[in-house]
Amino acid sequence: MLQLRDIRKQYKTAALVQNALDGVTLNLRDREFVAILGPSGSGKTTLLNVIGGLDRYDSGDLIINGVSTKKYRDRDWDTYRNHSIGFVFQSYNLIPHQTVLANVELALTISGMSAAGRRKLAKEALAKVGLAEQVHKRPSQLSGGQMQRVAIARALVNNPDILLADEPTGALDSETSIQVMELLKEVAQDRLVVMVTHNPELAEQYATRIVRIKDGKVTDDTDPYDPMTDPEAVARMQQKRRRKKRKKQASMSFLTALLLSFNNLLTKKARTLLVAIAGSIGIIGIALIQSLSNGVNDYIDSIEENTVLQYPITMSGTGVNMAAYMEAFADLQEKEKAESDAVTVNQIMRKFTSGLTKNDLKSAAAYLRYESDIMDYAKAMEYSYAIEPQIYSVYEGKLRRIHPDESIDNTGMSVSSLGSFGMTAMFMLPENKVLYEDSYELKSGKWPEDKNELVLVLGSDGTITDIAAYALGLRPSKEFDELMQALIYGKAVPEVGDMGEYTYEE
Ligand code: ADP
Ligand code: MG
Repeated sequence: MLQLRDIRKQYKTAALVQNALDGVTLNLRDREFVAILGPSGSGKTTLLNVIGGLDRYDSGDLIINGVSTKKYRDRDWDTYRNHSIGFVFQSYNLIPHQTVLANVELALTISGMSAAGRRKLAKEALAKVGLAEQVHKRPSQLSGGQMQRVAIARALVNNPDILLADEPTGALDSETSIQVMELLKEVAQDRLVVMVTHNPELAEQYATRIVRIKDGKVTDDTDPYDPMTDPEAVARMQQKRRRKKRKKQASMSFLTALLLSFNNLLTKKARTLLVAIAGSIGIIGIALIQSLSNGVNDYIDSIEENTVLQYPITMSGTGVNMAAYMEAFADLQEKEKAESDAVTVNQIMRKFTSGLTKNDLKSAAAYLRYESDIMDYAKAMEYSYAIEPQIYSVYEGKLRRIHPDESIDNTGMSVSSLGSFGMTAMFMLPENKVLYEDSYELKSGKWPEDKNELVLVLGSDGTITDIAAYALGLRPSKEFDELMQALIYGKAVPEVGDMGEYTYEE
C-alpha cells in the first residue's frame, strides 16, 4: 500500500519556479487499476516518477507499506525500484538490437539470478503477455502493440508489487490500445497499476479508479481510500513491514553501476586485465576490480580533462556484451555447492569471451563521416591504435623505459596494461588541434608538431603529478619502483620528502 502525504515538488529554472506537484495526498490500494487523468503539464509524469522513486519529492512523505521514506538513502530507493516497481513508458524503451527475450531478461540481470533462471522467468512473462512465439524476434519486427506488451513483460518479470505506466497507449492506434488496456486490467488483478493517460474513454472503461490532477493538485478522485478504516489493510501492512526487513538489498547494484560506468570506456587491454584478474582470483578479483576501477575512472577523467575530449563517444574494435560479464560475476557470487563431491571447473573465461563481438570500425567511420550528420555536432573524429610507443628517459646517465613504465614490470605483475589505469604519465595527443588548443594556455615552448615531441600538461592548479616527475626523469626512478612495490605488495613506503618546484622553462 502506498500513501502520498502532501507531496510537493518544484522544478526551478533560471526563469521561473514550476510547482509540478503542489500538495498531493493520495492513498493507493495494493490491488487496483488507477488512471491518472489531467491536461499536459499538470504533473502526471512527475507524480508517477515520485511514486516509482525515479524522482525525489521536495517535501511531504511517501509511505510504503506503512514505512516513511523520509529517511531513505539512495540504496533504499535502489532496492525499492528494483524489487517493487515495474515501469512502462509510452515509447517502449526496448533495446533494438537485442531479441525480445534478451530485452526482458535484462531486467533481471541486477537480481543476481542465474542465466537459466532468468531465461525461464523471461519466457514465462512473455507467455503471459501472449508473445511466447515471438521471443527470438527483434523489436523492429514487432508491431507497436506487441512492443508495448514486451515492455509490460519486462516490467512484470521480477514480479513487482506496483506497475507504473506513463501513457502506455499514447503511441498506439485504438485497437491495439484496447489489447494493452485489457492486459493492464488483468495485471491489476493482483497488484497496483497506476497509469497516466490522455484518454478519458479508455480510463473510464478499464480503470477501477480515476484520479484527476490539474496544476499539480488532485481535483477529483472517483474512489478514495482510507486504509485506517480497512482492517485487512492494516493487518497486511504489518505483515509486509515485517517481511520487508528481510528482503534482500539490491545485491548487484554496485557492480551494475560499476560495469555500466566503465564498460563502454575501457580499452581492450584494460578489459583483458580485468578479465584475467577476475578469472584467476575469483572473489578477491572483485574487490581488486573495485579498487582498480577508481583508478580507471580517474584515468578517464584525466583524459577528458587533459585533452578536452568532452564526452567522447568511443568505439572499439572489440565489443563486449555486458550481460555476459554480469552473468560471470553473478556466478562467482551466487553459486551454491553442487550435490556431488566432484570439483568442477567454472568456466569464467569462456563466459567472458562469449560476450565478445567484433565491430567493423572502418565501415562505421565511413558512415559517420560521409553518410550521417553526426559531424555537424561533433568537434572531431579521432582514431587510436593499439600501439604502445616505447619511450625512454635518462636519469643520472641511466636509460629507463618510462612508457610503458618498466617499474610496473619490476613489480612482477608484468602487465604493461597497468598503464591503462593511470599509472603512466603518457597520453597520445589528439590529431585535431581544436580538441586542445582553445582549452589550454601555452605557458612555455610550443605545441608539439612532430612525432618525437611531447607537451607537459599542468593541472588547473599549476601542478604536475609525481608520476609525471618520475617519468620525466626529474626524480630518481628507484623511488618510483619502491612506491609501486609499496602500493602493490604493501612493502615499506619510501621516505620521499618535498619534491620542490620548477619554472615553466625548466
Ligand atoms: P505531465 O506529465 O502531466 O504532462 P509533467 O509532470 O511532465 O506533466 O510536468 C509538470 C510540470 O513540471 C510542467 O510544467 C513541466 O514543464 C514541469 N517540469 C517537468 N519536468 C521538469 C524538469 N525536469 N525541469 C523543469 N520543469 C519540469
Ligand atoms: Mg507526462
